[in-house]
Amino acid sequence: MYTGHAMSCLFCKIVDGTIPSTPVYQDELCYAFADINPQAPVHVLVVPREHIVSMDECKQSNCNLMGHLLWAAAEIARAKGLGKGYRAVLNTGSDGGQSVEHLHVHLLGGRALSWPPG
Ligand code: 5GP
Ligand code: ZN
Repeated sequence: MYTGHAMSCLFCKIVDGTIPSTPVYQDELCYAFADINPQAPVHVLVVPREHIVSMDECKQSNCNLMGHLLWAAAEIARAKGLGKGYRAVLNTGSDGGQSVEHLHVHLLGGRALSWPPG
């Protein structure tokens, strides 16, 4: 269900189509699209249609939505043939490296990913 939109938000504009993107998956709760600066052969962003700033802003009432985003990422990973594995990341806040203030799950795969991240 669509419940929120921030006029000045980049990912809200991508969700509503004002800013073009390459769609990967979409349903009533989320939209997934190719990252403009991919860090792996598969780099998809899964975002809620609802404007939520970050994981830190999530309420208990967002639990179903948060689970749905991870399920969608797993569906995309299966569709992309990432059977060897992949990584789902939620950068949160400035120390977490978040640059766009609309919650998003990075789905990264298609190569071996190192740990720990930078
Ligand atoms: P963050 O740094 O907030 O975790 O991730 C933001 C991501 O959004 C980055 O990986 C960046 O490449 C991506 N990004 C930023 N602007 C755009 C855009 O206009 N279109 C798309 N498709 N991705 C974007
Ligand atoms: Zn937004």
